[in-house]
Amino acid sequence: MMLFKKKEEVLDPYTVEQCNACNKTSKRKFKEGDYVFKTTDKCPSCGNGQMMIGKIFGEVVK
Ligand SMILES: [Zn+2]
Repeated sequence: MMLFKKKEEVLDPYTVEQCNACNKTSKRKFKEGDYVFKTTDKCPSCGNGQMMIGKIFGEVVK
């Protein structure tokens, strides 16, 4: 099934990462190669958790 977006809408992709230890989330711009459940960096907040991508979504640029 195909989804059609209105032509005038531009989506800016974002990635949300969550720490598996302290549950801190951080949102950043989507990077090439990101996918859901991919583990990324060590958590910058608690220092021993692992950040994992929980969500990738597009925001409409106004
Ligand atoms: Zn953490």
